[in-house]
Amino acid sequence: MTAYKDLSKEELLSLKSNLEKEFKKVKAKGIKLDMSRGKPSTEQLNLSMGMMDVLTSDSDLVCEEGVDCRNYGVLDGIKEAKQLLADMMEVPKDNIIIFGNSSLNVMYDTIARSMTHGVMGSTPWCKLDKVKFLCPVPGYDRHFAITEYFGIEMINIPMTPTGPDMDMVEEYVNNDPAVKGIWCVPKYSNPQGITYSDETVHRFAKLNPAAEDFRIFWDNAYGIHHLYEDKQDYLIEILMECKKEGHPDMVYKFASTSKISFPGSGIGAIAASDANLADIRKQMKIQTIGHDKLNQLRHARFFGDIHGMVQHMKKHADIMRPKFDAVLDTLETELGGLEIGSWIAPRGGYFISFDSMDGCAKAIVAKAKEAGLVMTGAGATFPYGKDPKDSNIRIAPSYPTLQEIREAAKIFVLSVKLVSIDKLLENK
Ligand code: PMP
Repeated sequence: MTAYKDLSKEELLSLKSNLEKEFKKVKAKGIKLDMSRGKPSTEQLNLSMGMMDVLTSDSDLVCEEGVDCRNYGVLDGIKEAKQLLADMMEVPKDNIIIFGNSSLNVMYDTIARSMTHGVMGSTPWCKLDKVKFLCPVPGYDRHFAITEYFGIEMINIPMTPTGPDMDMVEEYVNNDPAVKGIWCVPKYSNPQGITYSDETVHRFAKLNPAAEDFRIFWDNAYGIHHLYEDKQDYLIEILMECKKEGHPDMVYKFASTSKISFPGSGIGAIAASDANLADIRKQMKIQTIGHDKLNQLRHARFFGDIHGMVQHMKKHADIMRPKFDAVLDTLETELGGLEIGSWIAPRGGYFISFDSMDGCAKAIVAKAKEAGLVMTGAGATFPYGKDPKDSNIRIAPSYPTLQEIREAAKIFVLSVKLVSIDKLLENK
């Protein structure tokens, strides 16, 4: 494979004319595909249909603590759901609060509470002149949307293959008291699929924040979402690590069963130190009399325990793996050696992150759309929707069928090639 940059103007033009013909043919098929969000496919949702049968009109709906789950009571989660989610999040059962159907909601509430009431007695963030958050990039657009919504200044921190650039994180956190938090997706990150290395987690736990109310927002959304049984990433448990380093209160850990059972109808949870949880409960008891215990019971009875959940995740992996492999194979065979893009093959999670040549991402996404393929908007993986290099594109292979994924991957690589050629021609 000759790198495109080494081709002459004439060679690029002739290549372009051939690729345009191919693109026309694909476009004529009138395909309509959506690869924009990390949604489980129908086949994956079907894996959890048994959950509809575990509670029937004949079921005993009393939970372990003897409360009738149909009624009010139990503010922070029934015991059996706490045990299940605690095992999933690798924390003690007493260090967890079960919330409603979404973890993003818990993250939003956490920021909102910090703004209006402060963190464990510190000044509410809304009374401060400036509040800043560190944002490893590329990252999850909905995290950035929350901090933007509250007027919190976001600072880009480049991701590396082992996690965020920790030199920069230490520099900001340990010296600037306006830095109150950092968004992290530490395992199979959204969108790169990167898992933070042991050293990265150790360095997080060893931070010495200038702000007493600095918190790590550790969103372990993909903690058990492996793609391969023989190739899995391991992540050091952050709560214990922070405790060992004498900073037990420095982290909030979030997770949910959204991509295990049903997104939107799962269970969200937070894990944190006793002191943090006490602070959270003060607000929670005003906010609600309790979350949906029937849903908690349904989850606990359907999965049984963490082993049941792990087995269940293998079925998800069997559906997801061929789709990821199809995209990765197409990227490798079609773009390998051309030096017009790079990507990382993840071992889990929901995304593949693609970096085009600088200044090409928006045009690639637009080109793909011309042929009927909707992708996550370029720039979405950065705070304020601004990718300074206009190069990152998030690929979400989970929702379409395998056949559709193959089509989509073809449209994508064609779009990458065409846009890259145009870019190279600008300087020839
Ligand atoms: N965090 C991350 C990193 C995600 O990718 C997602 C889903 N796309 C969420 C949180 C949303 O989780 P939930 O459904 O629990 O709100």
